[in-house]
Amino acid sequence: MPQVKELLVDTLQDLLHAETQLTAALPKMAEAANHPKLKEAFEKHLMQTQEQVARLEKVFQLLGEEAAPKPCKAMMGLIEEGQETIQEGQAKEPLSADLALIAAAQKVEHYEIASYGTARTLARQLGEMESARLLTHTLGEEESTDFLLTMISDPLLQQATLDDLGGDVNLESVGKTARATTKKRPTSK
Ligand code: FE
Ligand code: FE
Ligand code: FE
Repeated sequence: MPQVKELLVDTLQDLLHAETQLTAALPKMAEAANHPKLKEAFEKHLMQTQEQVARLEKVFQLLGEEAAPKPCKAMMGLIEEGQETIQEGQAKEPLSADLALIAAAQKVEHYEIASYGTARTLARQLGEMESARLLTHTLGEEESTDFLLTMISDPLLQQATLDDLGGDVNLESVGKTARATTKKRPTSK
């Protein structure tokens, strides 16, 4: 097989394994999520992920290659960390548990964004424009999911910060925190 096509097929085999694992992991993330918006985001992304698996199979077909998954050790590790985050979240405040879950999920999306970016570049280089189009579609979904997770985390983080302050009604400590966050960073100049 020509070397560039082999690089593309390797990347796709890795992604196929990664996405297949995610179809099993995302329902657990959705179940663990406390905030309804986060739950909904994971459920929506599960449906997208199922379509992404089908899209990858279509790309293999376009390339005339067998859709054979190759173990993606990175995704296995990220999912294992996600699993830990779910377990540790049971002992945390719901807000903290959700924020930790979002962080774990964004690591997954970033790995996918890197891989689909590579796959698309390789497909374009080979002149496989229909495959490149399909990969762009999935890449867009991964990027939107990453963005949505950030949008969901913003108010949760603000609320967690307020909760932290509210736990101590001592005004002096509130002032201290405010000063601490507005304090200028020392410059290196
Ligand atoms: Fe995906
Ligand atoms: Fe991988
Ligand atoms: Fe994803």
